[in-house]
Amino acid sequence: MKGGEGMANGSPFHSFYWSTAWLSFSAMIRQQRFHVCELCGAPNSSEVHHLVHINKDNINDPATTLNADNVMLLCRSCHHAVHERGKYKARRTTFDASGNIVGVKEPSSSSLTPLQESKLNEATKRAKCSVKNLHQFPPG
Ligand SMILES: [Zn+2]
Ligand SMILES: [Zn+2]
Repeated sequence: MKGGEGMANGSPFHSFYWSTAWLSFSAMIRQQRFHVCELCGAPNSSEVHHLVHINKDNINDPATTLNADNVMLLCRSCHHAVHERGKYKARRTTFDASGNIVGVKEPSSSSLTPLQESKLNEATKRAKCSVKNLHQFPPG
């Protein structure tokens, strides 16, 4: 989907991504991480990606949405690769009505290196722990 996750007008996601809380949180993350992509080191990176993805059930849950452990600062191409990965795990072959192969879809071309993949997996594991811990020990 172009334009990032859940940017459709009128959705709860839309209002979340335009909320002051998110805008100031994401600005803080960019600054704290020096605008450097956490996967490839590219400068001027500005896309804040949620490791534990936001959905309509956790959109109002700051332990997920505004948790520094649950975000990664990414450049555009890594962010794209992160969202594309897993979509086409293998080549997909399409057949016509009589069972002849009509096309082979290669896995997404924008993919992560094994090192980036393992960084992402590490960060995701940490994020899941952090979100869970915040739920077990609510602040205050
Ligand atoms: Zn990158
Ligand atoms: Zn993302």
